Amino acid sequence: MRMIIGYSVLLLILPRLILQCVIGACREHKFSIFQQELAGRECQTFIYRRLMIRNRPLTDIDKWFHYAQGRLDLIGPKPLELTQVLRMGRAGNARLQVRPGIIQPYRLKQRSGIAFEDENSISRDFVVEDSYMRRCQLMLTFLVQKITNIRGKEPNRTRKSFDLFGVAMKNVSMRDALSNIERDLSSESLRHKYAFVNADCANKCLTDVTYRETLNAFEGVFLDGVGVRIAAKWHGENVAHNVNGTDMFPLLCKRLSVTGHRIFLLGAKESVVKKLQERLTKIYPDLQIAGASSGYFSEAENEGIIRKINSSTTDILLVAMGAPRQEKWILNNIKRLDVKVAIGVGGLFDFYSGSISRAPIWVRELSLEWAWRLAVQPLDKGRRYLINAPLFMVRAAKSALLQNKQNLKPNLV
Ligand code: UDP
Repeated sequence: MRMIIGYSVLLLILPRLILQCVIGACREHKFSIFQQELAGRECQTFIYRRLMIRNRPLTDIDKWFHYAQGRLDLIGPKPLELTQVLRMGRAGNARLQVRPGIIQPYRLKQRSGIAFEDENSISRDFVVEDSYMRRCQLMLTFLVQKITNIRGKEPNRTRKSFDLFGVAMKNVSMRDALSNIERDLSSESLRHKYAFVNADCANKCLTDVTYRETLNAFEGVFLDGVGVRIAAKWHGENVAHNVNGTDMFPLLCKRLSVTGHRIFLLGAKESVVKKLQERLTKIYPDLQIAGASSGYFSEAENEGIIRKINSSTTDILLVAMGAPRQEKWILNNIKRLDVKVAIGVGGLFDFYSGSISRAPIWVRELSLEWAWRLAVQPLDKGRRYLINAPLFMVRAAKSALLQNKQNLKPNLV
């Protein structure tokens, strides 16, 4: 079966391959073949060839041949080079239990903009969670990405920061965002502020000047979700990752468990934050939870909350009271807070306490998390996703058209 599929696809794409060679030759381009020795299942090596044109990859020549020969699978981890296998040692062993794939979960994740720690962690997770169901989900994601061409044309610029609707955004990967926070935690200085901006927040920024100014007073504002990614793309900016609080939270907890920095959880209902605290203690026994408090409090109770946070001697404070309330609260109170880092994190306490179900990974890979939230919380989120989100897209399109028309570059930050 494998041989029939492999050789049939090879026969199908052969004319295209030949055509590409002929066109290239006609244009007097320089061809070369780049070959690598890769490690397959159980570390069996094979030679992988890539047709290069002026030292840039044109096409992979023999992937379908390797598929037919059983060295590659349709879906699987990225094949490793031999040097990588040696460097990774035991950490790379898990992924060598399965065949590497032509369609690779980490590439799908990269295309869908979902933040991840590194390629190896995605490949390892794939091996651990491997099932027919998961493979079908990945295949569906691949087909949808192909059909919708979710990546579209590569935007012309990739910058570490840019301005979107008057807010200076940090365009970094999840790994860099975490490193920034970790650096602040290990420094002597206090009161670093971070936030995430999704399409709804960006929409609010357009009408709420105070919110916009608040965000611009923060050290880092990260781009969260498919809405801002599309808006940025229309403005010619390539968003590195979908850096949202919900994906960052488990990674942050893992790191804090190692570094020993203390965390304080402020936000959500009393029962939610209590449940979250219990769950975190079970999942991360080494995590130092300095304290927790509900996000529903009056002006008169504010002083008490600040005293509670300061007496807990926490290093990092997560504020989950919804945007823009949480960011405004951070900026208004930061001078009196003895914390190294404060982050506005939105509704993630609800997810991790188990109070509200988060979209499964395959829904997120299809960039449909918003549809899931709408289905789960139709009354709470109806206005946001059915009215505000389309409105935001219209505003983004208008602004991008205006920018193109005037041929103005967005302000460099
Ligand atoms: N919240 C709060 N205090 C308030 C209003 C809201 O602690 O005065 C909490 C609410 O319980 C929820 C979170 O803030 O846990 C807001 O979640 P939302 O779904 O709005 O966040 P996002 O969609 O931005 O992640």
